Amino acid sequence: MSNPTVAIVGRPNVGKSTIFNRLVGDRISIVEDTPGVTRDRIYASAEWLGHQFNLIDTGGIDLSDQPFSVQITEQAEIAIDEADVIVFLTSAPEGVTDEDEQVARILYRADKPVLLAVNKADNPEQRQQIYDFYTLGFGDPYPISGAHGTGLGDLLDAVVKEFPDDAENEDDDTIRFSLIGRPNVGKSSIVNALLGEERVIVSDISGTTRDAINTRFTAADGDEFTMVDTAGLRKRGKVYENTERYSVMRAMSAIDKSDVVLVVLNAEEGIREQDKHVAGYAHEAGRAIIIVVNKWDTLAKDNHTMANFEATIREEFQYLDYAPIVFVSAKTRQRLDRLPALIKQVDENHRKRIQSSTLNDVITDAIATTPTPTSNGRRLRVYYVTQVAIKPPTFVLFVNDPELLHFSYERFLENQIRQAFDFTGTPIHLIARQRK
Ligand code: GDP
Ligand code: GDP
Repeated sequence: MSNPTVAIVGRPNVGKSTIFNRLVGDRISIVEDTPGVTRDRIYASAEWLGHQFNLIDTGGIDLSDQPFSVQITEQAEIAIDEADVIVFLTSAPEGVTDEDEQVARILYRADKPVLLAVNKADNPEQRQQIYDFYTLGFGDPYPISGAHGTGLGDLLDAVVKEFPDDAENEDDDTIRFSLIGRPNVGKSSIVNALLGEERVIVSDISGTTRDAINTRFTAADGDEFTMVDTAGLRKRGKVYENTERYSVMRAMSAIDKSDVVLVVLNAEEGIREQDKHVAGYAHEAGRAIIIVVNKWDTLAKDNHTMANFEATIREEFQYLDYAPIVFVSAKTRQRLDRLPALIKQVDENHRKRIQSSTLNDVITDAIATTPTPTSNGRRLRVYYVTQVAIKPPTFVLFVNDPELLHFSYERFLENQIRQAFDFTGTPIHLIARQRK
């Protein structure tokens, strides 16, 4: 389930984002289409010879308010913390610079494979320059050209060879969830409060070089949960941990590995733009979602406080209309004990399967009360509906012409399905196909 992560690291201008964009290709556009989500070019999925992996451009984490040496150090440390394999990028025309050596010194400390790539090796003369780079001490340099796309195949072959064997036990039947949200909303406090209450069974994953730590615990009623990526909640006080892009990247990585995502908001500060970015990724990824409003203890409340807050959330996160909202306090533990049962419920809904016969009864009734739309004298006909996937539940509608299924009628059908079956907490996808 969780794919390996590759980080590109190197001083500014060596071509990190050029290489990133080449490797990611058009995949990035998926992220750009999400409402409320800004273009993000630091974390994306990529593929080479059937190997899926996540790619990080550490240069995209903006630390420009920091002295240069801090920027270089922090970016290299992000790579060490986050990646399974590190690509150390340098540039042929400039040769080995002091800054390259500075990056190298930090990467020596990494207990992870590091591959040295020499970019801008656009022509044979420049490819000759690569021998100087042996002095950096990372073995054979790979000459590449982001401009021409040459050499990337050999580099990727080497990267893929370094991926850890998937010894991680992914097919356990515990419920995998994660907490995401911008810094200081209280994610670690909720984790600690939850774990203090529940019995922690395992608190590590062996057999991989990965730093990601999954924590398994058993709730009061015996259900087993795996909280993924708890390592990301550790506080180490590094500069980058408080940047927006790092927190978005962490969120994307956690979302990748879970079925249920708790989007944590801070009642004290209200909803910020960054909360929407983070939540947008979880929605886009099709995960089950619970909105957790933390620090509920900090508000002076009257009879309307909760309803008003909920209305604001519904307004600001319209695309998350399926997500339940819980108002909690990690400090006083108010309503925290509701979370395990709720996580279990939305997880069940996320993997729910509906029999075709039942489903077709619901759709037939819906069409009988609210006739299908017409366009230019032609009426939409829905012949048959079937569920083709779970996580999230995905339904295919066989119709006479998919163009005739307008957004509003699709919404109507989705609502009918939601009224007939409990899909609380999970997105559902409807796909119209022409019946041949
Ligand atoms: P970053 O700061 O490391 O992310 O570097 P960028 O990707 O922004 O690239 C810095 C500059 O180098 C840009 O002007 C790119 O067009 C240029 N560049 C990137 N790759 C190559 C390459 O393979 N050959 C040449 N000649 N220029 C390149
Ligand atoms: P994270 O960055 O999202 O992991 O946030 P932390 O768990 O580190 O919490 C940030 C700060 O908020 C800390 O000072 C916590 O003590 C405080 N905090 C967390 N949860 C609550 C809460 O429910 N109520 C109050 N009053 N403070 C909280």
